[in-house]
Amino acid sequence: MTHPEDPTRPAAAAACSCGAWWTGISRSHCAADGCHRTFSGETAADRHRQGRFGIDRRCVDPASVGLVPVDKPYGVLWQNPAPDGPVWFAS
Ligand SMILES: [Zn+2]
Ligand SMILES: [Zn+2]
Repeated sequence: MTHPEDPTRPAAAAACSCGAWWTGISRSHCAADGCHRTFSGETAADRHRQGRFGIDRRCVDPASVGLVPVDKPYGVLWQNPAPDGPVWFAS
């Protein structure tokens, strides 16, 4: 079962108004102007948000805060670097 407008995209994939899509229930997509990056989860997304809430909160280049890009069928997914050992429940 694929998306009617894009055969590479599973029908169950989540999508943003920017055209990005992704799979995985815990993914986090940043919908801020000029960003629209997709992250492996909330903890990874939080890392690229710098500054104080309501004052100078902004997005920065994920690579500059230690996140690593991973190529996925739907584009680049930013994630925390894999530590030693299992990463599944790393915070
Ligand atoms: Zn988007
Ligand atoms: Zn962002």
